Amino acid sequence: LKSHLKDPTLLETRAYIGGEWITGEATFDVTNPARGDVIAQVTDCSRAQVSGAIAQAQTAQKEWAKWTGKERAAVLRRWFDLMMENQQDLAVILTAEMGKPVTEAAGEIAYGASFIEFFAEEAKRIYGETIPGHQRDKRITVIKQPIGVAASITPWNFPNAMITRKAGPALAAGCSFVARPAAETPLSAIVLGVLADRAGIPAGVFNVVPSSRASDIGKEFCENPAVRKLTFTGSTEVGRILLRQAADSVMKCSMELGGNAPFIVFDDADLDAAVEGAIMCKFRNNGQTCVCANRIYVQAGVYDAFAAKLKDAVAKMKIGDGLSGDTQFGPLINADAVEKVKEHIADATAKGAQVILGGNPSELGGTFFEPTIVTGATRDMEFATEETFGPLAPLFKFEDEDEVIALANDTIFGLASYFYARDLSRVYKVAEELEYGIVGINTGIISTEVAPFGGVKQSGLGREGSHHGIEDYLEMKYICMSV
Ligand code: ADP
Repeated sequence: LKSHLKDPTLLETRAYIGGEWITGEATFDVTNPARGDVIAQVTDCSRAQVSGAIAQAQTAQKEWAKWTGKERAAVLRRWFDLMMENQQDLAVILTAEMGKPVTEAAGEIAYGASFIEFFAEEAKRIYGETIPGHQRDKRITVIKQPIGVAASITPWNFPNAMITRKAGPALAAGCSFVARPAAETPLSAIVLGVLADRAGIPAGVFNVVPSSRASDIGKEFCENPAVRKLTFTGSTEVGRILLRQAADSVMKCSMELGGNAPFIVFDDADLDAAVEGAIMCKFRNNGQTCVCANRIYVQAGVYDAFAAKLKDAVAKMKIGDGLSGDTQFGPLINADAVEKVKEHIADATAKGAQVILGGNPSELGGTFFEPTIVTGATRDMEFATEETFGPLAPLFKFEDEDEVIALANDTIFGLASYFYARDLSRVYKVAEELEYGIVGINTGIISTEVAPFGGVKQSGLGREGSHHGIEDYLEMKYICMSV
C-alpha cells in the first residue's frame, strides 16, 4: 500500500494519544476487501489505554476551550487544507481498507474535509443571547460553552467523513475528541491524527484509539466520568446498547442510526432523472450507506418503464477493484454483508419477486456481488422492514399517494426519504407527510456539510452539519445578575 502513496508517511498504524504515537501489547489485522490480503497491523488499544487517552483529552480540553474562536478556526482550517492537499493519498488508503472505488473515496475525502472547513468558520460564531430581565434589577445573559471531552464510535462505510463531521463541530466548539474508528477501517482515522499533528492542533485535543474491542471501549466511553458527550454512528441495535449504558452517567448523546429509506417515483416524475437519482441513491457505496434507498416505490403507470430503464443503466456499470480507475462497484465489506444480500434475494424470490438483473455473487469472487434489481416486491418481504446495506434494488408497485405515504412511513426508522414528482401540490403534501429527518425531492443525493443531517424515530438523536450541528457539542449557561 505504501508504494501507492505520494507521501508514504501518511500510512500510520499506531494510536494517536496526547499528541504521541503509541503502540500497545497487541495489534489487529486490516484487510483489503477487494483481495482479502492483510494490508496493515494496527495497534489494538486496551481499555486502560483508552482511559489514558480520555485523561489526556480532559487536560487538553481545558486549555483548548480558552482559545478564541478565531484561533481555533485557524488550525482547523490548516487541518482542512492538509486533507485536501493529500486527498488522493487519503482516498487510496480509504479504498484499500474499505473497498469503495477510489474516485468515490476521493469524493468522500472532500465531503469529510468540508465539515472541518465549515465548522472552522462556525468556531467564530458561537453566539450567546441577552434576554430582557424578569424583574427591574435583573439582567439575563446566555452563553454557550463546550461540553468537554467528546468520544466517538464510528462505522466502516464512511471511514473519513463519519469522523470529521463529529470532530469538526466538537473541536470548533472547544471540546476535545477521542475517536474509536471501526476495526475494519482504522487507517483512514489514524491518518487524520497525522494531519491534525501537522496542522498544529494541540496535543490531546484530537485522539485516535483503534481497537478491536468495541464493546469494552463503548463501556469505557460511557462509564468514564470525564467523557461528557458520546457521539455514535452505526446500527440502531448498537445505538440502543450505548444509550442504555450512557444512562447511568446521564451523558449527552448524539446518535446517527439505521435507516430504511423509501424512494418514491410518481407517475408525473421525470423518469430519466428518477433513474439517475435511484442509481446514485441506491448503488453509491454499493448500497452500503444509511441513506441509500432501501425500498423503491414506483407508481403503477410508470412501473414497467422505470424498471426497464433502471435495468439498462445499471447493467452498463462496472464491478472491480476500487483501486483501478473505472470501477463503479467495489466489493462488499465482508462475507456477512454478502450473506445479507443473498438472504434478502432468496426471501423475496420465495415470496414471488422476480430478479430482472444480477442476483448472484460476482464471478470476480471474494465479496464482489452483482448489482441486483427485483420486481414484484411486497411488504411481507424482509427488505420491506430491514436495511439490506448492499446492491439490491427492490421495486414495489403502488397506485396512489396516500397509499405510498402510509407504506413509506410504515417503519421504525426515519432517516432519509426521496421522491420524484412534478405536481406542486403533491410535492408539498408528500414532503410534509413523510416522517423522516431528510427528504430529497427530485434528487438522490442529500448529504452536504451545510444542511442538518439526522433522523427521527429510531434513526437517531441530534443533527450533524449546518450551524445546528455545533449545538450538539455546546452547553447553554444562563447567567442571572441583580444590578
Ligand atoms: P455496522 O453495520 O456499521 O457495523 P454497528 O452498529 O455494528 O454497525 O457498528 C458501528 C460501530 O459500533 C463499529 O465501530 C462497531 O465496532 C461499534 N460497535 C459494535 N458493537 C458495539 C458495542 N457493543 N459497543 C460499542 N461499540 C460497538
